[in-house]
Amino acid sequence: MSLMITSECINCDVCEPVCPNKAITQGVEIYEINPNLCTECVGHFDEPQCVAICPVDCIPNDPAHVETNEMLLEKYQKLTALSASNSSASNSSLLNSVSPVEKVAEE
Ligand code: SF4
Ligand code: SF4
Repeated sequence: MSLMITSECINCDVCEPVCPNKAITQGVEIYEINPNLCTECVGHFDEPQCVAICPVDCIPNDPAHVETNEMLLEKYQKLTALSASNSSASNSSLLNSVSPVEKVAEE
């Protein structure tokens, strides 16, 4: 299922760049997750990258968007195909197996 950001968000900005699907954006007051783009990181990583990096643990599952792993994988495949058709350039970021969380940690 998609994840969601609760009002406990402190706008620390660290989750947005680690999302492989660009599903996280700054909302009016706090960051928001687009349920149409969030795959719970299925297809990219073993665990949700935003959850792994959030310092206040404010990214739970969104009960309004319940999806099975199969549905999330299908969403990932559609997003990847869309991304490929929108950009004939390299999709290396999608194929990069190094977790963005790990990259941030290295910096
Ligand atoms: S779980 Fe993954 S795809 Fe969903 S918002 Fe977080 S980082 Fe993005
Ligand atoms: S990492 Fe957590 S606290 Fe920071 S902006 Fe994202 S949701 Fe908000």
